[in-house]
Amino acid sequence: MTVKQPYNPHYDPLKDTSPGEGVDYAPSYWRYHAGPPPEDDGPVTDDMEADVVLIGAGFTGLATAMFLAREHGIKAVVLEANQIGWGCTSRNGGQGHLAWGRLSRSQWVRKWGVDMARQLHANSLEGFEVFKSLTQDPEVDCEPQPLGNLLIAHSPQAMQHLEAESRLCNNILGYRTRTLDRATVHRDFMGDQESHGAMLEPEGIAVQPLKLAYSYARIARRHGARIHTSSPVQHWTTENGIHYLQTPGGTVKARAVGIATAGYTSPNLHSLTAYRNMPIMANSVWTRTLTDDEIEACGLRSTILTTDTRKLRYYYRLLPEKRLQIGTRSAISGADAQNARHLDVVHAAIARKFPALAGIETPWFSHGWMDISHDMMPRIVQPDPKQQIFYSQGYSGNGVSFSAYASRQLAALIAGQSLPERHLPIFNSPLPAHPLRPIRRMGQHLLYKYFQVLDKVS
Ligand SMILES: Cc1cc2nc3c(=O)[nH]c(=O)nc-3n(C[C@H](O)[C@H](O)[C@H](O)COP(=O)(O)OP(=O)(O)OC[C@H]3O[C@@H](n4cnc5c(N)ncnc54)[C@H](O)[C@@H]3O)c2cc1C
Repeated sequence: MTVKQPYNPHYDPLKDTSPGEGVDYAPSYWRYHAGPPPEDDGPVTDDMEADVVLIGAGFTGLATAMFLAREHGIKAVVLEANQIGWGCTSRNGGQGHLAWGRLSRSQWVRKWGVDMARQLHANSLEGFEVFKSLTQDPEVDCEPQPLGNLLIAHSPQAMQHLEAESRLCNNILGYRTRTLDRATVHRDFMGDQESHGAMLEPEGIAVQPLKLAYSYARIARRHGARIHTSSPVQHWTTENGIHYLQTPGGTVKARAVGIATAGYTSPNLHSLTAYRNMPIMANSVWTRTLTDDEIEACGLRSTILTTDTRKLRYYYRLLPEKRLQIGTRSAISGADAQNARHLDVVHAAIARKFPALAGIETPWFSHGWMDISHDMMPRIVQPDPKQQIFYSQGYSGNGVSFSAYASRQLAALIAGQSLPERHLPIFNSPLPAHPLRPIRRMGQHLLYKYFQVLDKVS
């Protein structure tokens, strides 16, 4: 690990041209808890050649390198601007959901009809197995909590919505979800005082995300991949189908390139990815270790991954080592990220949900930039069949589990395989652009105000 610059909390993908060079990790609990990062190959120090280059060493870049090496014998070179898992990968809630993008299953049905929703659901189950088997792999150390997924209704109307969603899951998709009343939530899971009931999904695995990423990195390198940290791609040219990726230490020449830069994608990286996702900030806090009395007072009986139904939703869980992790969306720009009012928003939620924890110390507070696709669905594609350029992006806040499957598919595409699932909407088109993109952030301010009102009244 080579640190060249301190962490900059004000970095903003819509304002800055690059996520930096050798920037230190964000101050997340995962970083503290995971211990030292695995060995990497240091910065690029000379011109070099590679068959395949992956840009970005988050879940996607690392797992794609791992699958390329393990399943296709391709020893890729990963170029990471900063550190292994530096982006969202080291800052998320570690919630591995059965979710492809951000749309609910009823939205799939409305958008594509029952048949396609069934196919997407079957595909998501198959993909979730990729994630599940990695969390059980003896070479992977990620502290998995395979307890399912609890969606807590924050209002009576939200509970009605969950009941309808659960009926759809059971009757149309054959996915055995259950609804629970408030008393059952309190008795079996947690004493969240905002709960009006919940929907329990059988699939859902919470992990220590940075440990998972470190495991991907170790396996990838053991199978021959190289991971160059502190090596941002600053300029990209293509001549006769060969890519030249310029980093501060040298130019890397490659036959094929996989882009795995998610919400940290600079608009100037490549025209095929410019403005194809909307970077949206999410935050997270971790409390000090809770006492047994506090755990009892909050009725925290499970380490299940939990989300509430607000538009500006909270995601939270009791970690196995007895800390509460909780986060939401609040700040919009990098310049405003450290404003104390965003931390206050999370503290207020802790106090509402678990009054015994009002005012508790939260030694870790960090944020990251999620890659929200303009239609809320991710893509794993070769956007231009004439160019050996591939990407997997647009996870829309659900990348912990999805990135495992997406990376396996991305590796297969890069290796030249044609995917049998290519008719599904996550494979058959590039990420869409958005006509209002230049003013979307202005719209986001208004939308957050609207969501805050909606979350109070419905
Ligand atoms: C606070 C927060 C909470 C979240 N919680 C959850 C959750 O509980 N469950 C869930 O499923 N998802 C969650 N997510 C989303 C999830 O973390 C992401 O979907 C996932 O980590 C994306 O992984 P990635 O590898 O695609 O991208 P990232 O981990 O963001 O990695 C992108 C990497 O690309 C590098 N890069 C960018 N440009 C260049 C360049 N030019 N050259 C070289 N390198 C470059 C960056 O430095 C970065 O390391 C959360 C996100 C945040 C911010």
